[in-house]
Amino acid sequence: MQLSSSRMGLVKSACKSLLMECHSKCTPVEIHQDHPLPPPPPPPTTTNGWADSVRHILDYASMTVDITSDEQIDLDTLHSRLLRLNRNQWLLEAGTKTKLRTFLEVYDHDNPRAIVNANLKRSQRSVLSKIKLGVLPLAIETGRWKDVPLEKRLCAVCNSGNLENEYHFMLFCEGFKDTRTKYLQEVVDKTEVCIAGMEADMLKALLSSEAVKITARYAEIMFTERKDALFKQAKERKESERKRKIEADEESESTGEEGE
Ligand SMILES: [Zn+2]
Repeated sequence: MQLSSSRMGLVKSACKSLLMECHSKCTPVEIHQDHPLPPPPPPPTTTNGWADSVRHILDYASMTVDITSDEQIDLDTLHSRLLRLNRNQWLLEAGTKTKLRTFLEVYDHDNPRAIVNANLKRSQRSVLSKIKLGVLPLAIETGRWKDVPLEKRLCAVCNSGNLENEYHFMLFCEGFKDTRTKYLQEVVDKTEVCIAGMEADMLKALLSSEAVKITARYAEIMFTERKDALFKQAKERKESERKRKIEADEESESTGEEGE
């Protein structure tokens, strides 16, 4: 997913110096889009014992080994091939579920338990897990509950007209600009994590074990700021409606008195 020019502009205005600093420390990771392999062959319907099972596993991993001879099986290669096949199968299955959009993009196959292993506060772990799973109650998710068309699930905090998804919340929303600048500064100062690149790679890096504790702390702060901003907006809206109603009542009363 390529950053749009307007989004890149937002990132640059929010943390240009940080990104430059980060660029100087690290080389952005080149992302290769995985092309999942075709599904594996179906398991044999009949089996003649363990030898057939072993042959099937070796065929599945495209390893040509004559198990009737003394030829050694390279277990490391077999293991890595099976892991890759499993990962591709998982991507094929999960890719059909649009709800897993963010999860698929930020999932770290090398360290999938970074959030669980980080010894975070329960509330912080909850916010990060929801971000990763795409279920934090942002407009992209709450709009789904109310059948709001996707293009109308916009951010009400900054009113920029941008879709409020996990990337907008964590990386771009101007409503938390000051907090985010401090957040990214801390990541740059205390870790070797690269925060330059495409949005999915940035978020994936921020959720990695090296930065996850910092990310958890700031994600919780930004989510509280979001709640406060929306509450303040609702309160102001209610107050202005109340004033408008009073003015309308006074106007209709004075019009009535003039008519008498
Ligand atoms: Zn916003």
